[in-house]
Amino acid sequence: MTTPFTSKISNKFCRMSAAVLIAVAVGQSGYAQSPLAKSIDQKAPVLEKKLVEWRRDFHQNPELGNREFKTAEKVANHLKRLGIEVTTGVAHTGVVGILKGGKPGPVVALRADMDGLPVAERVDIPFKSTVTTEYKGQTTGVMHACGHDTHIAILMGVAEVLASMKNELPGTIKFIFQPAEEGAPEGEEGGAELMVKEGVLENPKVDAIFGLHIDSQIEVGKISYRSGATMAAVDFFSIDVKGKQTHGAYPWSGVDPIVTSSQIVTALQTIVSRNLNLTQAPAVVTIGAIHGGVRQNIIPESVKMIGTIRTFDEEMHSYVHKRLHEISTNIAESAGATASVDIDVMYPVTVNNEALTAKMIGTLENVAGKENVNVIPVKTGAEDFAFYQQKVPGFFFFLGGMPKGKSVAEAAPHHTPDFYVDEGSLVLGVRSIARLATDYLEKAKGK
Ligand SMILES: [Zn+2]
Ligand SMILES: [Zn+2]
Repeated sequence: MTTPFTSKISNKFCRMSAAVLIAVAVGQSGYAQSPLAKSIDQKAPVLEKKLVEWRRDFHQNPELGNREFKTAEKVANHLKRLGIEVTTGVAHTGVVGILKGGKPGPVVALRADMDGLPVAERVDIPFKSTVTTEYKGQTTGVMHACGHDTHIAILMGVAEVLASMKNELPGTIKFIFQPAEEGAPEGEEGGAELMVKEGVLENPKVDAIFGLHIDSQIEVGKISYRSGATMAAVDFFSIDVKGKQTHGAYPWSGVDPIVTSSQIVTALQTIVSRNLNLTQAPAVVTIGAIHGGVRQNIIPESVKMIGTIRTFDEEMHSYVHKRLHEISTNIAESAGATASVDIDVMYPVTVNNEALTAKMIGTLENVAGKENVNVIPVKTGAEDFAFYQQKVPGFFFFLGGMPKGKSVAEAAPHHTPDFYVDEGSLVLGVRSIARLATDYLEKAKGK
């Protein structure tokens, strides 16, 4: 026999239990987790030791763009051991793996870049890189100073997790290990642009692509992203100013390209500050090097300047080019010199497909916890992941790699000798990418 009072209590208890059960099944952000998702969340942490070992091995043995020979070999061997169909030598040293699931469905591509940088490591760690190489005629250290070593280890981990659930996968996974994200050596093609040219998004045709970048200034455990334009388009340019050489004591008998170049550098600052409507989008024009002259008392014949442009908007992009030409040539002309401007269009804007971002962000919130996923402003850095996104819907996000408790001011930026990544980020990286892949496949199946 139950009194109304006790039955009320037990009903309340039952309702609470049901609520707790639903919360567990649905996860932190009200997002349903499938058996595949649960399996990924269980398997990824078990891999942590291997992830750290792989990452340290790549860190200690970095290779520059289009020269990732040993790296590619290790990746290819790992994929083959997992029973994944492997193609090597794509866009020089790229490795592409295809994992065909046991059930029909779309094709998802997952991308990691593999190249290191000509930077001499200064971080005191047991797996510090001591590799040196010849770069542009100089001996320099080589370092994974952008964290691509973590990207390779993470995607190898994702391959291991997904290969273990091959029969249950409703679709195909294409693993893209890409060379030369930081740019190919002079005179060579490379990176994502060449991978696309060589057909990496075909056979089988890719429906969506995902990628991440570790970030040394975002706390470990956190994820950042934005929808739409995310990283800048990048151009490199050079300006050659030609004057007339003369004795430094008799400047009136020549045309001074150094004074002319100084005026050009100063005037170029007005492109961003006076010509562009910055309320639409940011832009950057930077001169990175000036070379001219050999001696105190010689006014040289010419000066060469090189620099970079960052934009987010096609109209602003072409307007910067126009002003760069106008300012350089007209100032040179007014001095009796000439200026020739050469602009190399490098990478387009990295644009996260808005529909895909909206569809998939729940996955990241579920994986990392909603409070750890943040929308960030655009970055004026660039990424050649943009070339994939020009062809297929893509989503690219940033994974925290800064040790907890450190401030952004203390954490060394990418591309510096003190760049450092907390390895506590690796498991979250594997869970994020693997879950984006399986959630995408399962969502397509549900349609
Ligand atoms: Zn980089
Ligand atoms: Zn990078």
